[in-house]
Amino acid sequence: MTRRLYYEDPYQMEFESTIINIDEDERGSYAVLEETAFYPTGGGQPHDTGKLNGIEVIDVEELDGEVRHYTRERLSDGDGRVYGSIDQARRIDHMQQHSGQHIISAVFHDDFGVPTTSFHLGKDTVTIDLDTEKLSDRLLGQAEDQVNRIIRANYPVVTKWVSVEEAEQYPLRKTLAVEDEVRLVIIPEIDYNGCGGTHPNATGEVMAAKFLGWTKNKKQVRLEFVCGYRVLDKLGQKHQILTEMKQIVPKPEQQLVEEVQELIKASKEKDKRIAELEEQLHKYEAREIIEDSIEENVIQRVFLNRPIKTLQSLGKAISEKTPEAYLILISEQENQLQFVLACGSDIDRNMNEVAKQVLPIIEGKGGGKPNFVQGGGKRLIEGVDLADRVKALL
Ligand SMILES: [Zn+2]
Repeated sequence: MTRRLYYEDPYQMEFESTIINIDEDERGSYAVLEETAFYPTGGGQPHDTGKLNGIEVIDVEELDGEVRHYTRERLSDGDGRVYGSIDQARRIDHMQQHSGQHIISAVFHDDFGVPTTSFHLGKDTVTIDLDTEKLSDRLLGQAEDQVNRIIRANYPVVTKWVSVEEAEQYPLRKTLAVEDEVRLVIIPEIDYNGCGGTHPNATGEVMAAKFLGWTKNKKQVRLEFVCGYRVLDKLGQKHQILTEMKQIVPKPEQQLVEEVQELIKASKEKDKRIAELEEQLHKYEAREIIEDSIEENVIQRVFLNRPIKTLQSLGKAISEKTPEAYLILISEQENQLQFVLACGSDIDRNMNEVAKQVLPIIEGKGGGKPNFVQGGGKRLIEGVDLADRVKALL
């Protein structure tokens, strides 16, 4: 059995040990040591990373009762001694988030009667699932205040190994899943928890806790939060975004939301006005096309880079005024061709059938009403040639 130094001193980041075994499994090469300060994934807390004899430890897992240190490359047996070092920032971060979670869960349970059903310590934020259907802003505010009060009061965090019988003397919230010895993490008067994680010596080291919001998850609530240095990181990220935002929208922070709402509203109004003006323009353009095509029974035009919506609006305007003519409108874009095919009300023809014959030429798709179809495909031939191919079918 490996001696677990992280239980004895969670601040020990360096250690020397002896190799018991070097082997490989589906995760890669690993080493098992006589003692280790590396925390293996467990109890919601991710594993430590670091180095063994200068070789990167990328994963630490507990399997078949042994702690396997997965290394980037196979460790050499050498003289059997190893020097280990833990990524300190990562470990401290995990300690802050994990203890923060204990405090948060304790407050929700004791002050608001809401138990925690699961805990996930993610790379960016931490979540717990709370057994309730919703959380009010008021409750969240009160809970966050209370959590931070406990952090600031700097209560000791003590760990001790006890028998299950002894453990049951404490006001534990969850029934214990172990049979013999139990490790308790205790914040006196606040929290008594059967837990194998690494925790700081006092709540003050959690620094602060900030709730980031909640979402519904099945019939529960998933609360997202950060503790410790992550609070500063988050503040830094958000401050950076706001600073960049203020360069784009030069207004004081408090007015940014209102200002952006105004900008979006104004932009939507402009879009609407542009659409109206475009429609008017299309009517003029349609009139011009009709005047240029008097007596023609097929009106055709090939445009460059005009959206299908324009073809449709132009097509409608022309077709309404030319009951005896066919209409072919094509837009050429860099790699594609789009078209509108229509016939006036005096012509009894299903333009879908015409489209069906030309679509394979451009490997395209399309369809519509019998007198008005639209479609598009690849620009495998020129727009003018496509127009001619259509015309030949009319
Ligand atoms: Zn825990």
